[in-house]
Amino acid sequence: LNRRLAGFGTTIFAEMSALAARTGSINLGQGFPDTDGPEEIREAAVRALRAGHGNQYPPGPGIPELRTAVAAHQERFYGLTWSPDTEVLVTTGATEAIAAALLALVEPGDEVIAFEPYYDSYAACIAMAGGVRVPLTLRAPAFRPNLDELRALITPRTRLLLLNSPHNPTGTVLTPEELSGIAALAVEHDLLVVTDEVYEHLVFEGSHHPIAALPGMRERTVSISSAGKTYSYTGWKIGWVTADAPLVTAVRSAKQYLTFVSGGPFQYAIAEALQLPDTFFTEFREGMRRKRDLLADGLQSAGFRVYEPQGTYFITTDISPFGKEDAYAFCRALPERCGVAAVPNSVFYDDPEAGRSQVRFTFCKREGVLEEAVERLRRLG
Ligand code: PMP
Ligand code: GLN
Repeated sequence: LNRRLAGFGTTIFAEMSALAARTGSINLGQGFPDTDGPEEIREAAVRALRAGHGNQYPPGPGIPELRTAVAAHQERFYGLTWSPDTEVLVTTGATEAIAAALLALVEPGDEVIAFEPYYDSYAACIAMAGGVRVPLTLRAPAFRPNLDELRALITPRTRLLLLNSPHNPTGTVLTPEELSGIAALAVEHDLLVVTDEVYEHLVFEGSHHPIAALPGMRERTVSISSAGKTYSYTGWKIGWVTADAPLVTAVRSAKQYLTFVSGGPFQYAIAEALQLPDTFFTEFREGMRRKRDLLADGLQSAGFRVYEPQGTYFITTDISPFGKEDAYAFCRALPERCGVAAVPNSVFYDDPEAGRSQVRFTFCKREGVLEEAVERLRRLG
């Protein structure tokens, strides 16, 4: 393993999912639903496969039907208009979009400011691009970004702000005021913004506002989303980028040498998914809200301190009521102790001490499974 990737080892999600499988535990670690998304969308994928749509290399930027659907979805929900031909790029999940954006836009030595705790691929992709990660720490209990701190982190080497709202793992949803403040700094210092909005349809408090819609942002923002979360098909790995044409061209330059193109038949299915009626998105969110409330109450009753998330399908908790053990040790022992797996937030900080008492649980599971998990966690006592 080269120096850039030294220290990244195995992702925490793989490690904790393997531990969950080995111990037969309920896996509230890695975020993937235990129920597949809409059947009609699955059928659309089957139809595409059978009809031979996308069984051979689809077009590099993605099939036109999907690019058109991505643009229409952005217009329907946010009033943003993108040209499907030049301003939309289909990627292999948001993961590839993040990698391609950073590889395309970051010069070796450039500083990239990213919230911490951060989604693990951000750190690895910044490193692969030869960039320097500069964390803006979101602190418990509120996990809000402090804009004065952000201003102070900006240097002549700062190239890019990497945002994530709704934020994994804390569930923070940036407010319009916070977004305006961040946008103003980006404009003032002529920074690029890459914004990961994969949980755009999972906002329980307030609503999702894409930073690309703010004044001065369109020409400097790469927005990323994905079908994995919204349609509960995390295994299909269809994501996308929307941005001004020059930025999409740049990201595409990197994408063509990473995967060249992304899975064909699934693109046809997701093109249909993006056109589902508003009721689909409302019901998805309201169903997840019930699960959030169920797990939040359950974790509280089991003795955890719960930081209620405004969005995503994760809950960050404080484990200090259970003793002095750090989050990583706690999560390594949890499956043996009570048959539930979780993820330590400490691995999402530069300094693991900063997250030593934070453990993340996902609630994208059936209600009966969440109830059983709570039952087991109550035995921790
Ligand atoms: N960004 C965040 C914040 C995520 O939680 C995830 C989920 N794994 C991803 C990106 C990756 O999305 P995808 O599965 O579409 O690659
Ligand atoms: N986004 C999901 C999570 O945060 C899955 C991540 C992954 O498996 N890479 O748990």
